[in-house]
Amino acid sequence: MGKTTAIVLAAGSGKRMNSDTKKQYLLIKGKPLLYYSLMAFERSAIIDEIVLVTSVDDIKYVKEEIVEKYHINKVSVITEGGKERYNSVYNGICALKDCEYVFIHDGARPFINEEILIRAMDKLTKCGSAVVGMPVKDTIKIVDDEAVVKDTPNRRSVWQVQTPQCFKFDIVKKAYDNLIACENSGELIKREIQVTDDAMVVETFLNNIEEKFNVHLVEGSYENIKITTPEDLIIAEAFLK
Ligand code: C5P
Repeated sequence: MGKTTAIVLAAGSGKRMNSDTKKQYLLIKGKPLLYYSLMAFERSAIIDEIVLVTSVDDIKYVKEEIVEKYHINKVSVITEGGKERYNSVYNGICALKDCEYVFIHDGARPFINEEILIRAMDKLTKCGSAVVGMPVKDTIKIVDDEAVVKDTPNRRSVWQVQTPQCFKFDIVKKAYDNLIACENSGELIKREIQVTDDAMVVETFLNNIEEKFNVHLVEGSYENIKITTPEDLIIAEAFLK
């Protein structure tokens, strides 16, 4: 049996935080934001290995000031990210060896926990995919370019997705290979496809080109937020109390 590997993404620029320090390195309760998600995977009984993706300039800092300082021993590779999130994911995927299951996680989501990881693993082994998310609390509107409402989907069938997004390795590798081939051929721009999460890559670049494959969602938690803007830091500190 192959390994279960977490790809933890920390190569974003975090512009929306309006801070000189990139958001993944901002301190919450004295520790960098990235520490918390790495530690959840380090302590997890499910995860064998962590591949960490960061920008090339930060590799030394992350290695010395986070991975070594806090003894995150499951980190086997620290690799360079790419322009878009999906480029960073692909670099992570290309660094994997002997891998059976992949958990792709935003380093900016510090509140991932073992309960969610177990739920995801259970679904993943049964169905081949497990994307963590939650049913929306608000009503969602579909609008046009002028913000005129075009549709109101039934709230029961609308979820907001989080990470980790977990897949069997061969499935996600095939989908990402197809995506990158589309990017390289200019097809991605021509089809105006905006890639915003990993499930979408599997939905779009596997189903259309390969066999039918269902992406399954599994409950995360309303606390599993992505730290994006300064208000999120206040919420994160409150959760840690
Ligand atoms: O930008 P956004 O908040 O959606 O990023 C989600 C996660 O993906 C963050 O953890 C960020 O560091 C990571 N990311 C990345 N490479 C990029 C863009 C985002 O690793 N080019």
